[in-house]
Amino acid sequence: MSDFQMTIGGETARGSRSFPVVNPATGETFAEAPDCTREELDAAMEAARTAYTSWRRDEDARREALRRCAAVLREKAVELGPILTREQGKPLPKAVGEFLGASIWFDTTAGLELPVEVVQDDENTRIEVRRRPLGVVGAITPWNFPIILGVWKIAPALLAGNTVVIKPSPFTPLATLELGRVLQEALPPGVLNVVSGGNDLGAWITEHPAVRKISFTGSVATGKRVAAAAAPDLKRVTLELGGNDPAIVLPDVDPKAVAEKLFWGAFENSGQICAAIKRVYVHEDAYSSLLSELAELASTVKMGDGMEEGVQLGPINNAPQLERVKELVEDAKRGGASIAAGGKAREGGGYFFEPTVVGDVDDGTRLVDEEQFGPVLPLVRYRDVDDAIARANASPFGLSASVWSNDLERATELAAEIECGTAWINQHVNIVPNAPFGGAKWSGIGVENGPWGLLGFTELQTVNIAKG
Ligand code: NAD
Repeated sequence: MSDFQMTIGGETARGSRSFPVVNPATGETFAEAPDCTREELDAAMEAARTAYTSWRRDEDARREALRRCAAVLREKAVELGPILTREQGKPLPKAVGEFLGASIWFDTTAGLELPVEVVQDDENTRIEVRRRPLGVVGAITPWNFPIILGVWKIAPALLAGNTVVIKPSPFTPLATLELGRVLQEALPPGVLNVVSGGNDLGAWITEHPAVRKISFTGSVATGKRVAAAAAPDLKRVTLELGGNDPAIVLPDVDPKAVAEKLFWGAFENSGQICAAIKRVYVHEDAYSSLLSELAELASTVKMGDGMEEGVQLGPINNAPQLERVKELVEDAKRGGASIAAGGKAREGGGYFFEPTVVGDVDDGTRLVDEEQFGPVLPLVRYRDVDDAIARANASPFGLSASVWSNDLERATELAAEIECGTAWINQHVNIVPNAPFGGAKWSGIGVENGPWGLLGFTELQTVNIAKG
C-alpha cells in the first residue's frame, strides 16, 4: 500500500497498486508510491476534461488561483523539502529552494498577459488575433528537478486556461504527489491531477485521446518516442530534452578567477542538470592551471546525504545513472584520459560518485561527446577559438553554452556562433522566469518560461468581424 497519494478530480487517490521509492543516499527503499492503472489514468483525464469546461472561461480567476498556489508553496516549502531530498538526493536547502523557486514561478506566470492583438480595425472590418487554450495537457517530468520542472508546465498551462494531468519520474514521484495534494486548496477540483507510475504510464498519457498537448522534459531518446506517439493524434508537443553544454574559456581569463563559477556550473545538483556544463574547451595556455583549480575544488567539496548539514553535493539519483557515469569514466580512462580528481564510485551505501575532473580528453571520447549527467567534467584543449566553436557545434545537442572572457563584446559575438537555445557569458545555468528556455537540434522543440512559454500552451484564433 502506498504511503503517498495521487490527486484525481480534487480527491486523494491511494491507487490499487504501488511501487517502491529508493533513497539514493542509502540505496534503500523508504516509501511506496501509487502505481496508476489505466482505469485510474482514465479517471484523471476525465476529471481534467470536465474541469476544463469552466476553468477556461475566467482569466482573472485563474490569475488569482496561480497567486494562491504561489502562497501555498511559500508556506509549505520547509515542510516538503525533506521529501524531495529523500527521493532525489539533493541537499535539503536546495530542495526547499526548489519549492520556493516554484512559488516564484507561479507568481511570475500569474503576471503574464494573454494578448488579444488587433491586426485590422477600419470601417468594414475588425480582425482580432486571440489565444485559446488547448484543453487537457499531459505533463511528464524527469528526476533531477521534479518540482520546478513540473511547475514550469503547470503554471503557464493553467494560466492559459488548460487543465493538467502530470506524471513525475518513477525515481522521484513523492514530492510531486505532495505538490498536487497541497495545491488542491488553491485550485478547483480536476484542474491539476497528479498520477504516478512507471514509464508505461508516460506512454499511456502520450496516447490518451483526452490529451491535446504533451509537455515533456526528459532524455532525447524518450523525447523522440513521445513525438512519435503524439503524431497520429496531432497532439501539440513541447520537448525539453538533454544537453551536452560546452563552456568555452578564452585565453584572456584568469583561471583562478573563473574556476569556482565554472565548477558550480558543472557540478550543481551533482551534475544532474540538463543545462549543466558538460564539457569545457580551454585554451592551451590556461589549460593546466584551470585543470588544477577545478581539481582542487572537486577534492574539497562536501558530498554526502543531502539531509546532513553542510553537504554541498548529494548522490547520483539512481542506480542505472550511476552505472552510466562509471561506464563513461572507465571508457575515458581506457582512452588515455588523466583523472585530476575523483574518478570512482564511493564505497558503502548509496549512489555516490566522487566529484571528478578529467584531463587529456578530446572530442571522439564518449565522455566528451555524450551527456554524462553526473558529477564528472572533462576538459578539452584548444588552440584556435574558431575551432573550439566548431567542435562545440559538432554535436546533435544544442541546449545551452557559455563563453568566458574579460572582453564581453568578443564573448557575445562568439556566443552568437554557437547553435544553442541559451548562450551565457561568464556564467552558466542562470535560468530565469522572464526569458525563454529551450533547446536547438536534439535538445528540444519549443520553449518554456516567459510569454514565449505561455503561448506554447495556446492556439491562435483569428476572429474576423464584418462590420457593414
Ligand atoms: P527519461 O527520458 O528517462 O524520463 C523522463 C520522463 O519520461 C519520466 O517521467 C519517465 O517515466 C517518462 N517516460 C519514459 N518513457 C516514456 C515513454 N515512452 N512515453 C512517455 N513518457 C515516458 O529522462 P530522465 O532520465 O528522467 O531525465 C534525465 C534527462 O532529462 C536528461 O537527458 C536531461 O538532460 C533531461 N532534462 C532536460 C531538461 C530541459 O529542460 N531541457 C531539464 C531536465 C532534464
